[in-house]
Amino acid sequence: MRKTLPVYLTAMLLSFALDAADSEKNTSDKIIALSFDDSPRAANGYFSGSERADKLLKAFKQADVPQVAFFSVSGHLNEEGIARLSRYNDAGHIIANHSHSHPDINSLTLAEYKADVKKADTLLRQFSMFKPWYRFPYLREGDTLQKRDGMRQFLTSENYFNAYITINNYDWYIENLFQEAIKSKPNLNFDALKSFYIDTLMEGINYYHQLALEQLGRAPKHVLLLHEMDITAMFIDDLVTELKTQGWNVIPISDAYSDPIAQYETTRIMKYNPGRIGEIAKDNNYSGSLWHHTLNETHLKTEFEKRVLSVQ
Ligand SMILES: [Zn+2]
Repeated sequence: MRKTLPVYLTAMLLSFALDAADSEKNTSDKIIALSFDDSPRAANGYFSGSERADKLLKAFKQADVPQVAFFSVSGHLNEEGIARLSRYNDAGHIIANHSHSHPDINSLTLAEYKADVKKADTLLRQFSMFKPWYRFPYLREGDTLQKRDGMRQFLTSENYFNAYITINNYDWYIENLFQEAIKSKPNLNFDALKSFYIDTLMEGINYYHQLALEQLGRAPKHVLLLHEMDITAMFIDDLVTELKTQGWNVIPISDAYSDPIAQYETTRIMKYNPGRIGEIAKDNNYSGSLWHHTLNETHLKTEFEKRVLSVQ
C-alpha cells in the first residue's frame, strides 16, 4: 500500500533530485588530457613533416592547449623527424617512449621486447623534455604472465611509468581514409571531413566517459589517445573547442596521471587491452562491449563514404 508523501518531503526529495542532476552536469567532472602517439609519424602525404608540425603547434596555440605528451617511436628519428620532435619539445611538450620499432608484445619474447624499449630510451633522452613514461604499442602489455609481470618489473626497475590511456579511438584509420581519398579527390569537402572527425571522436570520448562513471562511480581524469598525423594537425583546435563547448576541461597531461587509477594494476592477462577504464570494467566483470564502434574500421569506412566522400 502506498501512502502519499507529505508535501515538505516531496519538495525535499525533488530538491535532492535536482541537485543530483546538477552535479551530473558539473563541468569540473569532465577532465581530459591529450596524448599523441607514433611521433614523428610518417609524413609527406598531404603535409610534409614540417608543415604538420607548423599546423599542429599553431592549432595548440589557437585553442590554448596545455602541455601534451608525444609518445615517440625512436625508429622514426631521421633528420626531419628529430627536427619535428625538437619543435614539440621546445614548445614545452613532453617527449616519451613508445618503443624503437613499435613491436607487438604478443609476437616477441620478453627479452627482445625489453631491448626495443631500452633502445628507444637511449635515443629519446636527447630531448630535454623527455620523461620516462612508456606507452605500450597497440596498448598490449603482455599476453603471458611472464611477459606482463616481466614488463611491470622492468618498467619499475628503469624508473618508468606505464602511461595508460582511458579513451581509445581509431583516429589513425580516419587518417588512412583521408590520405587515400585526397589522392584522387583534391576537392574533398574539408568541412564535412572536420565534422566527421570531431563527431566520431566526441562520440568515443562520451562513450568511455559514461563507462568510467559507471565503473568507478566517479569521473576520472581522462587521457585521450590521439596520433601525430595530418588530420590531427588540421582539426585539433576544433576538437578542443568542441570539448570545451561540451563542458570539458583540458588539463596538462602530468596532472591527468595524478588520478588514483594511475596506481591500478589489473589481475588479468590480456591479449588485447581496452585501456585503463576497460581493465577496471573487466575486473568488475562488466559484460558489455569495451570496443565502441568508433574502433570499428567497417563502421568508420561506411560513415566516411556517407558523410565525407558523397558530399560535394
Ligand atoms: Zn603506436
